[in-house]
Amino acid sequence: MPLNWAFATASLTGVGITLPGLIDSQAGIVHFMPNISVNRLALAENVRQALEIPCYISNDTAAMCLAEHYFGTATTCSNTLFISIHNGVRAGMMIHGELYEGCLGAAGEIGHIQVDPLGQRCYCGNFGCLETLVCNPAIENRYNQLARDHQPAVDAYPLGNKTIADICTAAVNQEPLAVNVLKYVAKHLGNVIAMSVNLIRPEKIILSGEIAAAFPIIAPVIQHCMENGTVQGISHAPTLEISTLGDQRWLGGTALVKRALREGSLLGQLLD
Ligand SMILES: [Zn+2]
Repeated sequence: MPLNWAFATASLTGVGITLPGLIDSQAGIVHFMPNISVNRLALAENVRQALEIPCYISNDTAAMCLAEHYFGTATTCSNTLFISIHNGVRAGMMIHGELYEGCLGAAGEIGHIQVDPLGQRCYCGNFGCLETLVCNPAIENRYNQLARDHQPAVDAYPLGNKTIADICTAAVNQEPLAVNVLKYVAKHLGNVIAMSVNLIRPEKIILSGEIAAAFPIIAPVIQHCMENGTVQGISHAPTLEISTLGDQRWLGGTALVKRALREGSLLGQLLD
C-alpha cells in the first residue's frame, strides 16, 4: 500500500533526525558517518523539501545530551557532560543551558583523546585513542582474549565469546576477570572524564550505554580519577549518574524539535 505522505505528515510540525558522525546541525549538513560514505550531504534541506515540513539534524550523542536536559536526569542542570559508550565513545555538552556542538558539530570526540601512545591503531589514524580501550567491542575483545589466555589446560571445552551485557553481569556478580577488565576500562575513562571536568566543569556527568549496567563497579574508579585529576576545593563536585532515558534514542530527535519550538525558529518557519 503506497504511503500517502500528505496524510502521514499532516499532524507533524517538524522532524528531528539524529545520526552518528560529524553533523553540522546549524547548516543541516552531514559531513562524515562511520560506516556510510557521505560528502557534505544536505540532509535537513532534502528532508524538508520531500516532506514540506522543517527538519532538524544533529549528532546522536549531542542530541541525547539535549534530551537529558529536557526529559531526563539533567532537567535542573545548566552544565552537563553526557557520555555515550556503544561501538564508539562520544560526549555531548550542555554549557550555560545551551547544547555546545563546536565548529561543524565536531565537539565531543573524547573517544579520540590519546590515552596510550603505544596502544592499538584507531580507525582515525592515531594510536591508543580512548575508543580503542573503552568501546563495547574493545571491552569484549579484551575480556574474551584474557579469558582464553587464562583457560585451564585441562578444560577441553571452548570458551564462548561473552558480550558486554554478559561481562557487566559477571562483574556485578564479582567474577574476578570481569571486575578487573571493567576497572581497567573505568580508569582510562575516568582520566578522560577528569580532563573534561577541568575543561568545562559540569554540574552533572551522565553515563549512557551498556556499561552502565556495571555502574557499581566502575563508578568508584571514575570517582577516584575525578578526585585525583581535577581542581579540588570547589564547593560543588560534579555528580556522576547513569542515564534514565536508557535506549530511547528517538528522544534525541524529539529534543531537536522541542529546542526549535522553544527558540522560536520552528514557529517562524510554520508561519512563513
Ligand atoms: Zn581515534
